[in-house]
Amino acid sequence: MKYIGPHVSAQGGVENAPLNAHAIGSKAFAFFTKNQKQWYASPLSASSIRKFREYCEKYDFKPFQILPHDSYLINLGNPDKEMLAKSRGAFIDEMERCSQLGLDRLNFHPGSHLNKASEEECLKLIAESVNIALDETKGVTAVLENTAGQGTNMGHRFEHLAYIIDLVEDKSRVGVCIDTCHSYTAGYNVKTARGFNETFDHFDKVIGLKYLKGMHINDSKKDFGTRVDRHDNLGEGFLGIDIFRMIVNDSRFDDMPLILETPDETKWEEEIRALYAMIR
Ligand SMILES: [Zn+2]
Ligand SMILES: [Zn+2]
Repeated sequence: MKYIGPHVSAQGGVENAPLNAHAIGSKAFAFFTKNQKQWYASPLSASSIRKFREYCEKYDFKPFQILPHDSYLINLGNPDKEMLAKSRGAFIDEMERCSQLGLDRLNFHPGSHLNKASEEECLKLIAESVNIALDETKGVTAVLENTAGQGTNMGHRFEHLAYIIDLVEDKSRVGVCIDTCHSYTAGYNVKTARGFNETFDHFDKVIGLKYLKGMHINDSKKDFGTRVDRHDNLGEGFLGIDIFRMIVNDSRFDDMPLILETPDETKWEEEIRALYAMIR
């Protein structure tokens, strides 16, 4: 089965995320468990937690259909000691929020070296951060997202993700989310049938398909290999529509959240409908 839906707003309380997702025909959704632009947030209220669980049950969203995203402020590979500690604390808090909501995975960008450490040192810090977070929490898988490789962001090569996973002690609670826009601008030619298959064969060889816990299905405003992260609505950017037809007809992407992070939210309902209509 394919589970498709967008990254919805949780404004007014996390319980609004499943409501917003259901209203436009989603079978999956992503959201932020707190304001993604602030370091601190008050704890989730008991009533928000109860309503979130209630609506997920009512509209049939199971944990494997939901992919919360962490705050953009968090950098688990920050070479600055103080900032690293701050990031680790915030990440553990987000893992705990997911756990309170009954969720089983949290999506995050690996981290950036900020030109203050080598790529390898940064990857080691990220793995250490994941180990600490998994030690401090229960039941939630840390899901590394591949990046476009903008600036000093790590995670734009599958080898980076494999390097981190290799250093994670509890391999049952680490996973990967592949973003189509990031893949393309990072230099994986997922646009053509041949490139798409080569990319996912390479993914399987380097990382392993069993680690795939979700996908972000976005078109790209920037061309191949530019290493710039600018999402576009499906069929309107450099990727075109064929890649999305390949994804929804490929059993490797069954039973995981397939998340739209496309910029024009007025098109989400139509994008979801169009993706389901492409399934043969
Ligand atoms: Zn992301
Ligand atoms: Zn993404």
